[in-house]
Formats: sequence, C-alpha cells, structure tokens
Amino acid sequence: MSLFSAVEMAPRDPILGLNEQYNADTNPAKVNLGVGVYFDDNGKLPLLQCVQAFEKTMMDKPTPRGYLPIDGIAAYDAAVKNLVFGADSEPVKSGRVATIQALGGTGGLKIGADFLKRMNPDAKVLISDPSWENHRALFTNAGFTVESYRYYNAETRGLDFAGMLDDLNAAAAGTVVVLHACCHNPTGYDITAQQWGEVIAAVKAKNLVAFLDMAYQGFGYGITEDGAVIGKFVAAGLDFFVSTSFSKSFSLYGERVGALSVLCASKEEAARVLSQLKIVIRTNYSNPPTHGGAIVAGVLGNPELHALWESELGEMRVRIKAMRQKLVDGLKAAGVKQDMSFITQQIGMFSYSGLSKDQMVRLRSEFGVYGTDTGRMCVAALNSKNIDYVCACIAKVI
Ligand code: PMP
Repeated sequence: MSLFSAVEMAPRDPILGLNEQYNADTNPAKVNLGVGVYFDDNGKLPLLQCVQAFEKTMMDKPTPRGYLPIDGIAAYDAAVKNLVFGADSEPVKSGRVATIQALGGTGGLKIGADFLKRMNPDAKVLISDPSWENHRALFTNAGFTVESYRYYNAETRGLDFAGMLDDLNAAAAGTVVVLHACCHNPTGYDITAQQWGEVIAAVKAKNLVAFLDMAYQGFGYGITEDGAVIGKFVAAGLDFFVSTSFSKSFSLYGERVGALSVLCASKEEAARVLSQLKIVIRTNYSNPPTHGGAIVAGVLGNPELHALWESELGEMRVRIKAMRQKLVDGLKAAGVKQDMSFITQQIGMFSYSGLSKDQMVRLRSEFGVYGTDTGRMCVAALNSKNIDYVCACIAKVI
C-alpha cells in the first residue's frame, strides 16, 4: 500500500480539457471557441500598448521585489475602488469600502467565499443556472451548499427572469446570491436596468447577500456603463461583495490580477472586515505578487495610459460586437434558415448558440471547431479569417 493508493483521479476541467483536445487536433482549419480569452483579428492574444508602455517605465527604473502588504499595493486597491464605485462616489469618499488585491477574479471570489463562510457558516449560496462552471466548485470547496436560481430558458433561447425573481424571493435570509455584474458567462444574456431594480428589491426585501462577479467590466457597453449596476446597489443602501478581474480587460491572464471589494456600513466596519480578509489571505498565500498589480495600478493611475487603456478596451468591445453581427449575417448567407439574430442581443465574450451537444460534438470531430457541449462559443475568438469557415461548419450541423 503506497501513501496515495486510495487517491482517485479527479475529472478533467471541462474547458481546459477541451483546450488540450484542440491542441492535439491536426486539422489545419481548426478554430478554438472554447476558452474565454480575447484574441485580436489576427487570432493573437493582444499585449496592450498601455501595458507595454508602463512596463517600459518599469524597466527603465527597476525596483526591488520586497513583500507587498497582505492586502496588496495601496494604489492598486485605490484604483479598483475608483473603477468599481466611482472616484467621487459616497462609498469611496466615506472610506466604507474594504478592497484587497487578489489572484485574479477567481482569487477575489475565493477570499470572499472563505470570509463569508467564517461570518455565516450556515448560509446557502445561489448561482445562476447556468453559470461560470467554477462558481459552483469554488463555493462548494469553501464549504457551502450551492444551489442555483433560474436564469436561462433553453426553449425560448432567452432569459427566465420571472423564474430568477421567484427563486430569489424564495431564498432564506442570509443566502449568498452570486450575480454576474455584466456580460453573463456563459449565456451572453444580461438582465435590463429595470430588471436589476427588481433583483435589488428582492435582495433587500429578503435580506440576501449579493456577491457581484465583475469579470468583464468594459466588455459590455463601457467601463462606466457596465459599472452602473454597482451604483444601483449602493443607492439601495445595501452592503455587498464585488469581485473584479483584469485578466480580460488588460489581457493579463497569466499575471493573476483581480480584487475583492466589500461595501460596509461605515469606515470603522470596513476596517474590521479588512482585518478579517487579511487573515484569510495570510493563511492562504500570505500576500499577492507584485508585477501584474504594479502594471494595473500604474496604468490606471496615469491619465494618459488610463485613456489609452480605455481606448484599447473599447477596440476589443467593438470588435466582438462586429463579430456577433458577422456571425449572424454569415450564418444566414451560409443557408441557415432559423433566425439567429439573438446572437447580437447577447453581450460580452460569449454566446449561447442554442446548438445541442450532438451538434457541438460534430463541429469538433468533423470540422475542428471547438466550443463547449453546452453550445457556448467564445465570440471574442472569431476573426475575419475564421468567421466564414465557422459559419459554413455551423450551417452543416444545424
Ligand atoms: N468570473 C467569471 C464569470 C469568469 O468568466 C471568469 C474568467 N473566466 C472569472 C470569474 C475568473 O477570472 P480570472 O481569470 O481573473 O480568475
């Protein structure tokens, strides 16, 4: 008997497993629409100009790499607060937001989940059906029972907002509700401003704990526009959690730059919450790494680079929207009779295409077009060179 003889093989991560399959595929026409990564029109992962410019200043003036504070770079945390809540907002001005630098958006969610578990160990967690596949695993691993609220209706290929609201209204007080702040992953469907109002009213009336996952700020309608939902929660007088990711918006996937912000009732309460978040961090990985956080803080803190970032993010957003339209037009031109225009009503990096598992498997095995079995495709991986091929292949399996 060896020490690990009883260890079972864990299932492969569905998306990363798809990636491995894609890499092993010898079809020269293959297209990877599986993973949630933005590629430019040449199919390349961008290295943003604003990032390169700031890194150049870092090279010109090298700094030693001491430990960061447990909660990260102060200027970084301040920049996150300004971006998420608004620099002139009351929560930022009154100092009642506790923000920590985290290892990507995933890290922000995990620190928040661990803190919530200590604060309210018996709470349940509700995620959307469907949701980013890691939500369930992450909150389950933090010790919570995770259930879902209705969100997508496969029959109508649209939202089940009435179902969502019913499920929120039926939740017990203290239930943690994970909400996609914008650019819902995987469906691409966001609720409207008015529907947000109804969700906020339910969260308030039922004393639920909102945890907003903001992994795509700027990919929907713009940084301010996408962040507007935060202001609505603030205006309702709620205290809540927000996780931030810069993986996509800065194209800094591997640097692991994200954050967790917790809006508290007062500055004094925020200090107590921050002290607890720091214990969670200290006992997990002690303190965050320097490089990615320094870049984001540097870019956001420099007016010229900040403007450059906004314009580069804008280009990504506009290109994705153009690809949505091209996909709809291309499918029609390729002979698809069904109305696929719902793809342009979706927003962000993903589209729930409505294709069945069998159709997705055929796309992969016969044509080398990789999306998830749920029918999710990453629109941000389409480009002027692969779009016609993708449309022709989809037309063949529909
Ligand atoms: N939340 C959602 C909804 C996401 O789609 C992602 C990234 N795919 C994350 C969180 C995690 O982001 P990060 O890569 O920065 O950890």
